[in-house]
Amino acid sequence: MSELLPEGLIEIMQCIICTGSLSERLEPPSLVCDDCGVAYPVEDGIPIMLEDEVIPGGGGLDE
Ligand SMILES: [Zn+2]
Repeated sequence: MSELLPEGLIEIMQCIICTGSLSERLEPPSLVCDDCGVAYPVEDGIPIMLEDEVIPGGGGLDE
């Protein structure tokens, strides 16, 4: 299983909305907040940690 980010990086990152911890998700490539559930897109290994770019609800849930 590949990883989106270099090992250890995700552990020092946190949600910009609630400061919760993040989990990697491969499909779609994103970091998902464990607490509030928003997802941050990851492009070419770089997480887009911008409030304007977050995916509410994680983006991978069936709607
Ligand atoms: Zn959060």
